[in-house]
Amino acid sequence: MTNPLLADWTGPYELPPFTEISDADFAPAFDAALAEARANIAAIADSPDAPTFVNTIEAMELAEEALEKVAGVFYNLAGADATPARQELMRDLAPKLAAFSSEITMNKALFARIDQLWQSRESLGLDPEQDRLLEQYYQMFTRSGAALEGAEAERMREIKQRFASITTQFSQNLLADESGWFRPLAEDELEGLPDFVVDTARAAGKERGQDGPVLTLSRSLIVPFLQFSPNRELRRIAYEAWAARGANGGETDNREIAAEVLKLREERAKLLGYESFAAYKLEPEMAKTPEAVRDLLMRVWAPAKAAAEADAAKLAEMMHADGINGDLEPWDWRYYAEKRRVAEHDFDEGQIKPYLSLDAMIGAAFDTANRLFGLKFKEIDGPFYHADVRGWEVSRGGKVLAVFLGDYFARGSKRSGAWCSAMRSQRKLGGAPVPIVVNVCNFAKGDPALLSHDDARTLFHEFGHALHQMLSNVTYQFLSGTSVARDFVELPSQLYEHWLDVPETLEKHARHYKTGEPMPTELREKLNGAATFDQGFSTVEYLGSALVDLAFHEGAAPEDPMAKQAEVLREIGMPHAIRMRHATPHFSHVFSGDGYSAGYYSYMWSEVMDADAFEAFEEAGDVFDPETAAKLERFVLSAGNSRPPEELYTEFRGKMPGVEPLLKGRGLLDPAA
Ligand SMILES: [Zn+2]
Repeated sequence: MTNPLLADWTGPYELPPFTEISDADFAPAFDAALAEARANIAAIADSPDAPTFVNTIEAMELAEEALEKVAGVFYNLAGADATPARQELMRDLAPKLAAFSSEITMNKALFARIDQLWQSRESLGLDPEQDRLLEQYYQMFTRSGAALEGAEAERMREIKQRFASITTQFSQNLLADESGWFRPLAEDELEGLPDFVVDTARAAGKERGQDGPVLTLSRSLIVPFLQFSPNRELRRIAYEAWAARGANGGETDNREIAAEVLKLREERAKLLGYESFAAYKLEPEMAKTPEAVRDLLMRVWAPAKAAAEADAAKLAEMMHADGINGDLEPWDWRYYAEKRRVAEHDFDEGQIKPYLSLDAMIGAAFDTANRLFGLKFKEIDGPFYHADVRGWEVSRGGKVLAVFLGDYFARGSKRSGAWCSAMRSQRKLGGAPVPIVVNVCNFAKGDPALLSHDDARTLFHEFGHALHQMLSNVTYQFLSGTSVARDFVELPSQLYEHWLDVPETLEKHARHYKTGEPMPTELREKLNGAATFDQGFSTVEYLGSALVDLAFHEGAAPEDPMAKQAEVLREIGMPHAIRMRHATPHFSHVFSGDGYSAGYYSYMWSEVMDADAFEAFEEAGDVFDPETAAKLERFVLSAGNSRPPEELYTEFRGKMPGVEPLLKGRGLLDPAA
C-alpha cells in the first residue's frame, strides 16, 4: 500500500487525507522524502549543463516538494496534537533535518552554480521577483559561510560548534537557577495574596516536597506575588533572587558565557566580511543598520522615561501614604501599580466575556476581512486532523484563494501559546496548489466558549498572520506569505488587532451571547483605558534590554558585558525603580541562540509600523477605506518577500513610519496627563 503522506492528494482542495494517515506513516514518509530531496539536490549540483535560473534556482524551489508535504502535516500535528510517539519522532528528526540543511549550504558544487548565476545576474533577463529570489538564495549560502575556504571554513565550523554548546549551557544554567531557588511561605506571609496565587504557591510547595506553600522564581508566581504581597521585606528578597538568575556565582553563572558568546559572534561576523555582528545580523532586516535601530529606540526612550518618572512620583506618593519612607524601589513598583490600576481602571473580566463568544469573534475577524478585502468564508466539512478543528473555504469573486483551518481550544496534547502556520504555502510555480493555513489557539472550551479581551486580540493577531499567507500572490514559495524579515513579519498580525477595538466591530459583533445586547459604552471605555495603563514602565524596561542588546553587538565585543550593561544604563539614565526586562545573565533571547541577538528591538519596530499603518486608515476617514485596504493588500499582504520590506512599506504609506502613532497608542504622547 502506498504511504498516504506520499500519495497524490485528490480529495477536495487537495487536503491531506487526515483519516488515512497514521503515526506509523511519518517516519518512512520522511525517509523517502529526504532521500528524494537529496537526489534532486545532487542532480542539480552535479548537472553537466551550465547553470541557468531554471535548472538551478527553480529546480531548488521544487526539489523538496515531497519533504514539504510530509513536514507540513507532521509539524502541525506535533505542535497542535502531540502524542509521545510524535514527540519522539520530532527528537529523531531534528538532527536529521539540521544535517540535511547544512549539507545544502555547504555543497561547494551547488554554491558554485548559484555564485555563477549571481555574478552574471544582469544578463539573465530575470523579472524582479526572480531577481529577488536569486539574491535570497545567494545570501542564504554566503551568510552561512559557503564562500569560505581552508582555515577560515574550518574556523567557522569550530565557532558554530562551540556556539551551539555554550548557548545550550546558558539555557540550562538559567533553568537550574530558576528551579533551584524557592522560599517557604508562612501562613501570615500569604496575607493579601489572591486565591490563585496562594493555590499556585501551594502547588509549587507540593512539587518540591514541602509541607506548605513556597515562593518560586517562575514568572507566573513571582510577578503576581510582587503585585499583591504587602510584605515589603519579602518582596525585596523575592525580587533580588529573581534579578540574580544566572549571576549567582559557581557552576551555573552565565556571565562568562555571555562574554564568550559575544566574542564568537564578532569573530563570525568578521570572517564573513562584516564590521560587526550587528551589521551582519541587521543586513537582511528592514532596519538594515544599527544606527536605524538606535534612532528608533531613542526616539521612544525620552517620552517613555518621562511617563515612567511621572508614574514613579505617583507610586512613591502612595507608598509614603502607607507610612513607608525613602525611595520607591524595583520591588515596590508592581505592588503600587496594581493598587493604582484597581483605583483607576478596574473591571472584571467576567463582565466582558459574555460579549465575546468565540463564534462572534470568528465572525468579527471574517467580517473585517470581507469589508477590507472582499473575502468570503464558507464552512466546509471535515474531518480534519482533530475533532475540534473547523475549516473554511476562502474565496473572492468565485476564485478559491485558500483553505483556512481554525483549531481554537486548549487540550493536553497542544503546546501553549497561539500561532499561525501554513500546512501548504502559496506559490504559482508547480501547479499553484490551494494554500492551507492554520490558526492554533488555546482558548478554554465552554458552552458557548467565551473569550477574554486578550483572547479575542490573540484571535485577531493570528488571523492577521493567516491573511498574510492566504492573500499571498507570488510565484516562488521561498518568498511567499510570512517568509519575510523578522522585524516585518508582525506587521500584518499586530495591524489586524486594531480592528478588534474599533467601535464598528464592537457594536456589531461584541453582543451578549444570551440577550444579543451590545457591550455597554462604560465597559468599552474601561477596556480602552486599561490598554495604556503603566506603559511607561513596560516601555522603559523593554527599551533598557533592547539598547543593551544593540550595544553588545556593535563594534568590538566587550571584555566585561556586565560593565558594558551598567555603562549603557547609566548613559540613558535608567530610572531608579525600573530594571531591564531581561538582564544579561538571564537574557535568553540574546544568549540561548541567535534568534533575537541584535534583534530584541524588532518587537517595537513592528509596533511602530502597525500603529503608523493603522493611522493610514484613520487619515482616510474610514477604518475600512477600500483604497487603503487595496494598497495594503498589494504592497504588504500579497507581496511576501518578493521585494525588500522597506520598499513595500514606503509604497503602501508613501513614507517610512514615524514614532508618533506608537507613542499615542501607548499613551506616551502626553505623559503628564
Ligand atoms: Zn505574531
